[in-house]
Amino acid sequence: MATINEHYLKLQAGYLFPEIARRVSDYCQSNPNAQVIKMGIGDVTQPLPAAIVSAMHTAIDEMATAETFRGYGPEQGHSFLRDAIRDHCFRNRGIDIDSDEIFVSDGSKCDSGNLLDIFGIENKVAVLDPVYPVYVDTNVMVGRTGAADANGQYSGLVYLPVNAENDFQPALPSEPVDLIYLCYPNNPTGTVATKEMLKTWVDYARKNHSIIFFDAAYEAFVSDPEIPRSIYEVEGAQEVAIELRSFSKNAGFTGIRCAYTVVPKKLMGYLPGGSPQAIHPLWNRRHGTKFNGVSYPVQRGAAASFSPEGKQQIEELIRFYMNNARLLREGLMGAGLQVYGGLNAPYVWLKTPGEISSWDFFDQLLHESQIVGTPGSGFGASGEGYFRLSAFSNLENTQEAIRRIEASLASKT
Ligand SMILES: *Cc1c(COP(=O)(O)O)cnc(C)c1O
Repeated sequence: MATINEHYLKLQAGYLFPEIARRVSDYCQSNPNAQVIKMGIGDVTQPLPAAIVSAMHTAIDEMATAETFRGYGPEQGHSFLRDAIRDHCFRNRGIDIDSDEIFVSDGSKCDSGNLLDIFGIENKVAVLDPVYPVYVDTNVMVGRTGAADANGQYSGLVYLPVNAENDFQPALPSEPVDLIYLCYPNNPTGTVATKEMLKTWVDYARKNHSIIFFDAAYEAFVSDPEIPRSIYEVEGAQEVAIELRSFSKNAGFTGIRCAYTVVPKKLMGYLPGGSPQAIHPLWNRRHGTKFNGVSYPVQRGAAASFSPEGKQQIEELIRFYMNNARLLREGLMGAGLQVYGGLNAPYVWLKTPGEISSWDFFDQLLHESQIVGTPGSGFGASGEGYFRLSAFSNLENTQEAIRRIEASLASKT
């Protein structure tokens, strides 16, 4: 008898994005001429930078002749890419990370789930609330939680609320936790962490022998020089933090797939008796056993993002999306909404007007303004009463969306 992993049955049905898709499809069926603007899913829209396209073409051509053909590469990534990441993401900021502490992969989403392979089931896990749902669901899948309650919160997880009342600064957990997920700039709230705040978490982790999973998928959107782009900008963080980074949002790789995870050699986990065990060899073993490397042309494309042309083209892309974010932020504030984020992140997080629920605001925005966003409650109980709009749209749609929201809100006053 083949039994199943019953923990999967605890996962909640009606996952956020399918439910959004269902409501949008129902609406479009009844209103076939509606010009719906999609600002829901966090996916990029602009084409790949030319320097990356060109590097990938060249790499494909190399594969076409026996002299330059390449088969399996190192599972951890080619050294041309790992060295470039070391130099352009860390050493340039005074952070001493070695190439062999960088593990190239096919995505930060996959990595954040895969990391759980090397940690004991008894670890207590803390997540922010609202949160990127992958952190929670992957912990449910491995069996680290009980069932979900009426709010969708799983027993066994520690939820740290972030909302306007605490200025989106999570309080330290009131009970000891072992693994902590932090994502900054934050998805979904678009808020950022100051260096002092990250230091508080690093100090907490050092004191409690905890490990921080720091998801920096949106680091490229930080323009404020005071805001850290890596947790390793905080002294001592290499002893307690794993950092996840991706080419998805900065270089437009959501459909190409390339990311990397930094596991410093100084990072320690613990045996049940308390003796320290380095995490690096465990992750190296896991990665080498279950993964066979990112495709060569994709790694060449990723490396091209660090060439002078690549860097400049990515800066333009970021400027483009962040101009949308600024327009959204200012437009919605002008329309009288309370708006958060959007300054160093491609998301704005708004308080629903008139205290209506996130899903009611979703329906209102879809039916009255033909705009699709993401209900805050879909990211966790503390997201109720909030709503996320993405700046990953084109300029015309962003401007049109602002016009429609202004008109709709003005008609209500
Ligand atoms: C988009 C995103 C990622 C990137 O995931 P990939 O698998 O690398 O595309 C990681 N974390 C968060 C919070 C994200 O929003």
